[in-house]
Amino acid sequence: MKPCFFRHGKLTRSLFWIAGIVAVFCLGGCQINPVTGKKELVLVPQSVEWAMGASNYAPLQQASGGPYTTYPEVNDYVRQVGHKLSEVSDRPDLPYEFVVLNHSIPNAWALPSGKIAIHRGLLTELEDEAQLAAVLSHEIVHAAARHSAKNMQRQIILQLGVAATGTLIGGAADSELAGQTASMLGNAASGLLQFSYSRRDELEADYYGLQYMARANYDPVAAVELQQKFVALEDKQESSWLAGMLRTHPPSMERVEANRETAGQLHITKPYRGRDAFQHAMRKLLKDRSAYAHYDQASEAYRQKQPDKALHEIQRAITLQPQEAEFYRLRGDLFFQNEDIRKAKRDYERALSLQDQYYLHHQRLGVAFQLLGQTEQAIRYLESSIKLLPSDPAYFSLGELGAAKGDREQAVHWFSLAAQSSDARIARAATDWLQKLGALE
Ligand SMILES: [Zn+2]
Repeated sequence: MKPCFFRHGKLTRSLFWIAGIVAVFCLGGCQINPVTGKKELVLVPQSVEWAMGASNYAPLQQASGGPYTTYPEVNDYVRQVGHKLSEVSDRPDLPYEFVVLNHSIPNAWALPSGKIAIHRGLLTELEDEAQLAAVLSHEIVHAAARHSAKNMQRQIILQLGVAATGTLIGGAADSELAGQTASMLGNAASGLLQFSYSRRDELEADYYGLQYMARANYDPVAAVELQQKFVALEDKQESSWLAGMLRTHPPSMERVEANRETAGQLHITKPYRGRDAFQHAMRKLLKDRSAYAHYDQASEAYRQKQPDKALHEIQRAITLQPQEAEFYRLRGDLFFQNEDIRKAKRDYERALSLQDQYYLHHQRLGVAFQLLGQTEQAIRYLESSIKLLPSDPAYFSLGELGAAKGDREQAVHWFSLAAQSSDARIARAATDWLQKLGALE
């Protein structure tokens, strides 16, 4: 994901503008927050809020491991619990969507307009439906109370500068412009997932999340347990947790206590835990926990440049669960690194046949075809990978393929995109190509 860069000069200038904008908007009347009932400044009008959520949901799913599809009933179950809660929320009219992503880092996130995701790695840490309801209702509040829109708003001002804010305000009533603005915000959105919510937003999401749980008859004590679990994990400094849930939704004893107090005020006659329902819906995924543990070990060994260990671990994962596409993608990468391109291609094809809605499987297969000299197939898969999620390696390979075919226009087009990469090696190599093609002044 794109890192955030802050420049002090730009920041100071922006702050002056923000102060001006705040003054103009508050004179014109701040809006009432539909969840909290409090008055607040809203720079992002509803048309843009909806467009931001809709246009960034699919690419952000791709950037977070892609949809989990091995057992579709897992997704169906999460969606069902999510809608049960969104229907009793303060904004039931939002176009809510819930998805399980194939990512081992425990995390959950919400985009404006109710586009919510939960990672496989968090789902397998939960014990019952009430705990799942605690995670989802918390995210529903982040979307419904416009916390995610406010985070995005903050980031636009800091990252893209005041010009973008002007476009947002000017484009309030124009849906086409709203769409353009939303796509312009693509970069801001990926950064958004790196941003942590403020202490106030977290307490608010907990408080109203517990109200939604109670309205849907879930035991609110589950939210207290979950928060306790997060605090304990933070104390243990577990790295995967620190990279996910704990960073974007910082836990604290203050939150545990606040949840306990809120839960104590809610009176539910027969609070529902749904342990059996959860365990039944998750049984196949829970059985796969050891396969994913071997996959995580393999990924780590691959990063640490220990190919033998990585291969051993990924073989064990495949033996335990031969239907998981990602396992073949990783084994393909190991073969690829070992310059056994034919074996790599076979694994990438297997990965793609099991899951064709994840960009990386298309991208890897495209590069394998490129190295095997099968240009047309290479272009086809690289282009289909870009439709799912644009990536610098795909741009660069397409540039090389254009150059190899003698198609200068195509080569310059793709290398120009690759030259903007945040990966210095790709950017440098693409710039060298552009120079060679005489496309630089
Ligand atoms: Zn949160």
